[in-house]
Amino acid sequence: MRTITMIILHCSATRAGQCYDFGECRRDHIRRGFQNIGYHYYVTRDGIVHEGRRLSQVGAHCKHHNQHSIGICYEGGLDINGEAADTRTKAQRQSLRTLLTRLHREFPDAIILGHRDLSPDTDGNGHITPNEWLKQCPCFDALIDYEDLEPIGLFK
Ligand SMILES: [Zn+2]
Repeated sequence: MRTITMIILHCSATRAGQCYDFGECRRDHIRRGFQNIGYHYYVTRDGIVHEGRRLSQVGAHCKHHNQHSIGICYEGGLDINGEAADTRTKAQRQSLRTLLTRLHREFPDAIILGHRDLSPDTDGNGHITPNEWLKQCPCFDALIDYEDLEPIGLFK
């Protein structure tokens, strides 16, 4: 198994009311030249967790950070006008919570964060603030939502 230091959350940037299922996402990634879907898990609006790449395989979801991370994407992320919004359904929230709890148990030293939290710290103050986000993905604050699953070694 690889060393896992990060569990990175993404959204598919799909508008409310539109469908973008696992097969479609996988096809698009393969069309872009990937061998398989770039994520390890893809959670559709119905809460089903689709398994993409094996955890032992490096993903293709976050430039410069794929080597030691797990990539999880949920279907959604945009409101009906195409604006960034936390569109996670109740089923998705429950599935993500279950999945992340399991992964936290398996990789207790990995930090759970959103794609946007890995934007460059352009002012160098040690915090990635909204003005520094390269994109809004995953359109919610993963550091806050899953802060109870923080790495166990962090404050030791
Ligand atoms: Zn992303």
